Amino acid sequence: MEDIKSKVWDVVVVGAGPVGLYAGIEIAKAKSSVLILDRKQEIGCPKRCAEGLSLRWFNILGLKPNPEWSIQPIHGAALYGPSGKQIKMKNKEPQGYILERKMFEKHLAIEAVKLGAKITMKHLVVSAKRENGIVEMNVEADGKIQTIKAKLVIACDGIDSLVARMLGLNTKNNLNDTDSGYQYEMTGISGYDENLLHLYFGVDIAPRGYIWIFPKREGTANVGIGIGAYEEKTAKFYLDKWIASQPGVKDGSIIEVNAGGIPVGGFLEKMETDNLLVAGDAGHMVDPIHGGGIGIAMEGGRLAGAVAVKALKAKDFSDKMLSTYTKEWYALRGNELKRRLKSRHLLEQLTNEDFDYLAGSISMDEALKIGNGTLTKTDKFALFTKKLVTRPKLLKIMVKYFQ
Ligand SMILES: Cc1cc2nc3c(=O)[nH]c(=O)nc-3n(C[C@H](O)[C@H](O)[C@H](O)COP(=O)(O)OP(=O)(O)OC[C@H]3O[C@@H](n4cnc5c(N)ncnc54)[C@H](O)[C@@H]3O)c2cc1C
Repeated sequence: MEDIKSKVWDVVVVGAGPVGLYAGIEIAKAKSSVLILDRKQEIGCPKRCAEGLSLRWFNILGLKPNPEWSIQPIHGAALYGPSGKQIKMKNKEPQGYILERKMFEKHLAIEAVKLGAKITMKHLVVSAKRENGIVEMNVEADGKIQTIKAKLVIACDGIDSLVARMLGLNTKNNLNDTDSGYQYEMTGISGYDENLLHLYFGVDIAPRGYIWIFPKREGTANVGIGIGAYEEKTAKFYLDKWIASQPGVKDGSIIEVNAGGIPVGGFLEKMETDNLLVAGDAGHMVDPIHGGGIGIAMEGGRLAGAVAVKALKAKDFSDKMLSTYTKEWYALRGNELKRRLKSRHLLEQLTNEDFDYLAGSISMDEALKIGNGTLTKTDKFALFTKKLVTRPKLLKIMVKYFQ
């Protein structure tokens, strides 16, 4: 076996999640040496994810649906207000897929290794420092500490990220900008259209969030919830309560339990420092409205890989050289996410009655534009004067956020 501590790696990526693996692929493509290490014993396991990925991200990332890991085509979505009123959109063609994330990540890992990357599991980074322009990381494996060296580190170590902090970049999540996620993979359930994503809203159902059913195979789905991390009652409490009220779901069997935090909006103004880039959940690259972080964050991982390759060519790993990463990410996605954060703040102010009113009166197109913060002048005129005119409080909130 290759002795991973015997050389100075061009890049060490900490975290073999989708983001770390995708960053590794980009670096390996450029024939630079890259080590991807992870504390877990198995790639993709346990998943902390509902596994939904829209076709838009398949296209942006150059991924082709593959029956081994994109197991359930999704043709649209249904959004439910607290009283059951719904907005539905169903297309003939698939709009995205539910992944089997374990298989997806293994697929990415195999691609990375084919291109020349090295991956090692059960390696926990416990400390990191700079020494003569090189990063030295103490890594625990098999009960022993070994030192691994790199010219550049990409921290893709997820929401609990400590590696960037070890190297002087503050990536701490504000509690107010963190959601608490809890999910069961359930089987033997029924009563929902398996071609759609199902999202349930309401302040008593999921405060500052929603409950989801993301269908996987026949009678099997990820049934989960995301709520504000500061809520007094836990995400599990709300999810169990809701499941108990759903005839087709309550008698199903739980075959997996997943839990995790989701960074939904405290974007990092600075995502690099000397010898370090941070990407994925570690860099808070998550959509603030729905908490999705596979696609956006993989795009961030790819960008981090590309910037690393430029730094290697220039033999310059300074903060100044690497700062193009933060600038490019904001130009690419960060500013769009900031707009969506504004929409999330709007959603946080809605009451149960507002959710029901909107579910009964607006179209999916309008719902998506509200979420994206992309209502045009004509959309606003139609929405404000025709639909919200009878609900002055809701109108005031909308005008405040979208004037
Ligand atoms: C309940 C829930 C549902 C979700 N559903 C969706 C969804 O449907 N669609 C979507 O797009 N997104 C979803 N997300 C978000 C998505 O899962 C994350 O955004 C995504 O996993 C981020 O990938 P990542 O590679 O940045 O981090 P991770 O996948 O968390 O990978 C980080 C890796 O770093 C490793 N690591 C951490 N510290 C160290 C260390 N010190 N040393 C070595 N290794 C370390 C960890 O073991 C881990 O493998 C969901 C999240 C949750 C919690």
